[in-house]
Amino acid sequence: MDLIPHLIDGRETESRSAARFPTVDPWTREPWAEVALGGAEEADAAVTAARRAFDEGPWPRMGFAERGAILHRLADLIDEHRDELALADTTDMGKPIADSTAKDVPRSALNFRFFADHARLSAGDALPMDSGHHAYSRFEAAGVVAAIAPWNFPLMLETWKIAPALAWGNTVVLKPAEDTPASAAILARLALAAGMPPGVLNVVNGFGPDSAGAALTADPRVDRITFTGESGTGRTIARAAAAHLTPVSLELGGKGANLVFADADLASAVDWSIKAIYSNAGQVCLAGSRLYVQREVYAEFLARFTAAAEALVIGDPKDRATQLGPLASEEHYRKVRSYLEGVQADGGTIATGGLGDGWTVRPTVITDAPPTARVCQEEIFGPVVVITPFDTEAEAVAAANGTPYGLNAMVFTENLSRAHRVAAALKAGTVWANCFFVRDLRAPFGGVGDSGVGREGGNFSREFFTEPKAVVMAITPADTAA
Ligand code: NAD
Repeated sequence: MDLIPHLIDGRETESRSAARFPTVDPWTREPWAEVALGGAEEADAAVTAARRAFDEGPWPRMGFAERGAILHRLADLIDEHRDELALADTTDMGKPIADSTAKDVPRSALNFRFFADHARLSAGDALPMDSGHHAYSRFEAAGVVAAIAPWNFPLMLETWKIAPALAWGNTVVLKPAEDTPASAAILARLALAAGMPPGVLNVVNGFGPDSAGAALTADPRVDRITFTGESGTGRTIARAAAAHLTPVSLELGGKGANLVFADADLASAVDWSIKAIYSNAGQVCLAGSRLYVQREVYAEFLARFTAAAEALVIGDPKDRATQLGPLASEEHYRKVRSYLEGVQADGGTIATGGLGDGWTVRPTVITDAPPTARVCQEEIFGPVVVITPFDTEAEAVAAANGTPYGLNAMVFTENLSRAHRVAAALKAGTVWANCFFVRDLRAPFGGVGDSGVGREGGNFSREFFTEPKAVVMAITPADTAA
C-alpha cells in the first residue's frame, strides 16, 4: 500500500517512530493508503523548518513578482496534475469525481493565481498628508503560519489558506484533515517542483487533539493560526492560541437558511436549492440546510424539490455520472444517521430520503420539524434539508436568524427591494440572492456568531497574514533645506 509522507524542510519523510495510520476510501470502506502519523515531534520539526525559512531564507525577501512567478508555476502544475489531484480527494472522501475535476482542482489553481496577483497589486497604500508629512502603509509578512484544514474540500480549502499566506511572504505548516491527506502530499511535491525553497511549505499529517494539530496551535513560534472546521474545535484552538496571543482566523460551521418567496422564479429556486443542499452530499459549510418557503407556493415547491431530489444519481464517486457519493467516513455517517433517527421524536417527518447502502444517505427532505428540533438548530453536514412554510417576510427573517450560526443565507425573489432588504436583515457573512456559491475572491468570506471569527478573501486575507505597518515621513520645508 502506498505511503503518504510528511513534507518537512523540503524532504518527504515518515515519522521518526515510523507510526502510520490508514486512510479509508468511503465508497469501498477499505483502507487504500497508509499515512505517516505525525505528532508533537513532527510538528516541532516542521515549525523549526518554517521558522528558519522565514527568518533566514529567500522567500520573504523576494519581490512580489518573483514569488508570484513561483505561485503561478505551481498553479500551472496543479492544472497539469488535475486528474491525479481530483482522484486523491475523491478516493479519500467520496466527493464525485466530476466535481473534484471540474470544480475543486481548478479553483485550487485559481487560489494561487489570484493571491499571487492580488499581493503584488496591493502591497501598500500611499497616504499623502497635508501637514508636511507623507505617510504610507506596508503589509509585511507575519511569519510562520499554521494552517489546519477540514476534509470536505481538502485541496480547495488548503490552497485557500496557503496561497495568501505564501503570496505575502509567510512560510507555512499545513496539517490536512486526518481523513484526507492525499492531495496535500501531491501539492507539497508540486510546490517543490515549482521552485519553492525548502521549508516554505511543510505538511504534517496527524490528528487534532493530543496530536500534530494541538502541537501546532500550542507552539509559540507560530505567528498566525488559520483554521477551518467545526465550531467546537474552533473554540479549542482559540483557547490554545490565547496562551501566546497568536491571531487566529476561524472559519467554522453553518446552518444556512434559504428563503424562497412566492414571487420567485420557482424553477430556478428549486434548481439552486437542490445544489445548495445536495452538492458534496451536503458536506458543505455553506449548505442551504434550512429551506423556508412562502405558503402560497409551498406545496408546489415541495413537490418539485422532492422530485428533483429523488432524481439525483447516487453511486460510486469515481463514476462521472454520480452526483452524490458516500459520506466521508464511518464516524461521520454515524453522526448523520443519529440525526435521522431522532427526527420523529423531535416532531419532524422524513418526506423522502433516508439511509442508503454502505455509508450513503439518500437526498433527504424533512418537514413539520419545529424550530427547536435538533435538525433545525444543529449542523448535520449531510444531504438533509428541513423545509418549513412561512407567511410574512418578517417571519422568514426571524426564522432564518434563529440559530447560533451565521455563515450564509440565500433569498429567492423577483422583488429587487425585498432582495436588498432581506439581505441586510439576515445574520450571515454571505447572502446570495437568486444564486448560490458564486464567489468573487476579493469579497469578504466568513461567518457571524458560531460560524467564525475574521474574514478571508482579497484584502481581508492580506490583513490577517501580514503585520500592517504605518511609516510617516516629515518632508523638510524648502527654507530649511540645504
Ligand atoms: P474538525 O473541527 O473536526 O477538524 C478540522 C481540522 O482540525 C482537522 O485537521 C483536525 O485534525 C483538526 N483538529 C481537530 N481538533 C483539533 C485540536 N484540538 N487542535 C488542533 N487541530 C485540531 O472539522 P471537520 O469535521 O474536519 O470539518 C467539518 C467542519 O468544518 C464543519 O463544521 C464545516 O461546517 C466546517 N467548515 C467550515 C468552512 C468555512 O469556511 N466556514 C468550510 C468548510 C468546512
